[in-house]
Amino acid sequence: MGMTTPAATSTVSFWINGRPMASGGSRHGLVTNPATGQVVRTVPFANDADVDLAVESARAAFPAWRATTPLRRARILMRFRDLLAQHTDEIAAAISEEHGKTLPDAAGSVQRGLEVVEFATGIPHLLKGEHAEDVGTGIDSHSVQQPLGVCAGITPFNFPIMCPMWMIPVALACGNTFVLKPSEKDPSASMLAARLLTEAGLPDGVLNVVHGDRQAVNAILTHDDIAAVSFVGSTPIARHVYETASAHGKRVQALGGAKNHAVVLPDADLDDAADALIGAAYGSAGERCMAISAVVAVGEAGDAIVSRLRDRVKSLRVGPGDRRDVDLGPLITQAHLDRVRGYIDAGEREGAELVVDGRGLRVEGHEGGYFLGPTLFDKVTRAMSIYRDEIFGPVLVVLRADSDEAAIDIVNQSPYGNGTAVFTQSGAAARRFANEIQVGMVGINVPIPVPMAFFSFGGWKSSLFGDLHMHGPDGVRFYTRTKVVTTRWPEHRDAVNLNMPTMQ
Ligand code: NAD
Repeated sequence: MGMTTPAATSTVSFWINGRPMASGGSRHGLVTNPATGQVVRTVPFANDADVDLAVESARAAFPAWRATTPLRRARILMRFRDLLAQHTDEIAAAISEEHGKTLPDAAGSVQRGLEVVEFATGIPHLLKGEHAEDVGTGIDSHSVQQPLGVCAGITPFNFPIMCPMWMIPVALACGNTFVLKPSEKDPSASMLAARLLTEAGLPDGVLNVVHGDRQAVNAILTHDDIAAVSFVGSTPIARHVYETASAHGKRVQALGGAKNHAVVLPDADLDDAADALIGAAYGSAGERCMAISAVVAVGEAGDAIVSRLRDRVKSLRVGPGDRRDVDLGPLITQAHLDRVRGYIDAGEREGAELVVDGRGLRVEGHEGGYFLGPTLFDKVTRAMSIYRDEIFGPVLVVLRADSDEAAIDIVNQSPYGNGTAVFTQSGAAARRFANEIQVGMVGINVPIPVPMAFFSFGGWKSSLFGDLHMHGPDGVRFYTRTKVVTTRWPEHRDAVNLNMPTMQ
């Protein structure tokens, strides 16, 4: 970042007031193809004046967008949904080039984003309030859900289209206007989304996109004209976003990092569990907030699951995401690759059993890429850094537990609470797990229990700062304020009364 700009690369724009716009400043970053290590684009970093322009554009667009009926807003989203479907391959290719995930995996993330658009097209129904007749004699009450104003979203590198889509369709459907600051590491997918929304008929200024680093983020968190901030990223930044934006009077939902456990009970179908765990641990090279990164194997499930995992890990194919025969791609940057390798070194030092070591991997023809082979550790303890920290790479650690209770206890002592899964054939054990576990999203024989768009997505503890989850019913609640209207049409005059009003 911040090095000389190679002449051959194109520059990503901001999207302000319905069209591409350059930065007024000169700071920028470099976007790299992680499969080759080559710079593919430069990305401008917004300064305070750039953020002001985007917010002003959103502020100016708000009154007319708020007055556009929910049904008309929904129809624009319906057209956007169709355009997203038509352009899925193009968006997936941009994601794969800048992030490194395989094309089918990238297309799947476009699909999960598209499903939130589908949810948001139901907004006329979702905004219906409550009504009660005769709350007092001749008096009725009803509630309405009204938009907040300008909302902002700040998103991570690992889901360049899906995370923006957790926010934007619901915020816009509710009548808000929006400023997005996507990850500066892979900014192109959100630009494609902005273009398609404009093509779908979204009025200018309703969605604006700026790029950048902490300077752009901090300008958003402290901006007087922004009413609410939605954030997805790592726990330390989520905490900073929550504290700063709420201190500046904003409504905030800040989703953080994770360490997701899968508990494997001895009665599980171990072949099914192993297949599920391989996808959940190593898909997208482990760069998913819902990746399973720790297995807690109970009793005799331990040796049996480790031997099954070992065989499967060894058969995984690593390479550039745009090649057909590849299971997982590279990590996002050289710095992240070094960090993940450092954890594998630490795990060895700390005495864990290294069952499969991915450090020696070479991908022919891609020597400059940030590749790491899938890695498996066994006999890991809670004190080890490979267990304690979110590694965010293709590294799975196995812990052993003596009983169901001990396994639940391990999960519940984690500071994170994003997702978890249990593998078992016992309904009673599964029910107990779902009831007692301190985690926001739970899978029963489902390794990555990402809720569908019509439910809400969010974790507990250090995986979420704020009160409401994203999309689904919580998303509508987050992006609206409730107003209760109490109505009376008097047919005669009452006497003056200075007492506390009570309904009779
Ligand atoms: P990150 O926290 O580094 O960055 C997220 C966003 O914050 C980016 O837009 C980035 O530009 C901005 N940012 C980075 N440093 C900042 C700073 N010092 N001040 C202000 N803003 C800053 O996260 P990332 O590396 O892009 O994404 C990976 C992380 O996101 C992982 O921890 C992962 O678990 C988490 N994640 C969580 C969820 C979830 O739903 N809980 C979903 C996806 C990713």
